[in-house]
Amino acid sequence: EAKRAGAARYVVFEPAMRERAAQRGDIESELRRALAEGELFVVYQPVVGLQGADLVDGRIDASAGVEALVRWRHPRRGLVPPLEFIGVAEDCGLIGALGDFVLATACHQFVQWQQVQGERAPRKLAVNLSRAQLGQPGWVDAVRQILQTSGMAPGQLQLEVTESLAAQDDGVRSRLHELKALGLTLALDDFGTGYSSLASLHLLPVDTVKIDRSFVSQVDTSHHHRVLIEATVRVANSLGMNTVAEGIETRAQADLVRQLGCEKGQGYFFSKPLAAADVVGWLARQGHEQLTALADKQA
Ligand code: C2E
Ligand code: MG
Ligand code: MG
Ligand code: MG
Repeated sequence: EAKRAGAARYVVFEPAMRERAAQRGDIESELRRALAEGELFVVYQPVVGLQGADLVDGRIDASAGVEALVRWRHPRRGLVPPLEFIGVAEDCGLIGALGDFVLATACHQFVQWQQVQGERAPRKLAVNLSRAQLGQPGWVDAVRQILQTSGMAPGQLQLEVTESLAAQDDGVRSRLHELKALGLTLALDDFGTGYSSLASLHLLPVDTVKIDRSFVSQVDTSHHHRVLIEATVRVANSLGMNTVAEGIETRAQADLVRQLGCEKGQGYFFSKPLAAADVVGWLARQGHEQLTALADKQA
């Protein structure tokens, strides 16, 4: 689009661009400070099992897990969304420190839940990876270190990568295999956006495909999107992968993606991202009914 519009548009937008660049510079120096002074923190969004759940009765199988999402509480700006600073962190070399912070924080939190809450704790932890992290030499060792220090069982950790990243090159793919060799699993995030292709899914060493919100949000209004989700589930399953529907906001969407075969779901319909302190309470209210019922019967 920019190409078609030609050079004239750049002149028109120049002041805005300069302002944006200045803003980016601000964010960079402030992000450096934020990391040092502990303004970043992690919230957790439940990922729930859809199959075997009885959504009609309002019962959800909440035992699947949580996804860690970074937040920045800026002293003046308030809460800054990750899409406004992840890119900056990637460009200025802070993504390594930021990524390690999120991974270490989430792993320690997860282990603490397990130790204190036992059966009531989330069963799985998902953490987002950025393109730049995978490129850093020695990063796989850092992940191994964090797993060891926190006592996190690798099998309970899933790292999420985006397609553009995963498809990139052989170096990236071999790095992904190194990660899998640590015993953790990988998810392909935002599937359906970017350069996604069902035909190349088998090239990626991933265990889970996360179907992007842009598909899920239209599942109840567009036949085309239903067909695409169904095809994704079928191809993923035939490759031994499971699927998560992202961004479920309504009961109708939840019911449909469940009928289309998605194993898990995530979205505001179930829960917004939660503060660490609220996760166990949410799980206790929503999930584990089956477990509790079982325990009651045995008692
Ligand atoms: P993502 O990994 O695809 O995460 C899902 C995003 O969708 C989250 O936004 C979540 O709050 C939002 N979401 C979940 N359910 C719904 C829903 O029902 N409706 C709507 N409208 N949105 C929903 P968030 O937390 O703002 O994160 C945005 C993106 O930033 C993430 O997308 C991920 O790509 C990136 N990100 C977040 N945390 C990290 C991190 O620690 N490291 C890296 N590298 N990237 C991160
Ligand atoms: Mg994600
Ligand atoms: Mg996603
Ligand atoms: Mg997304």
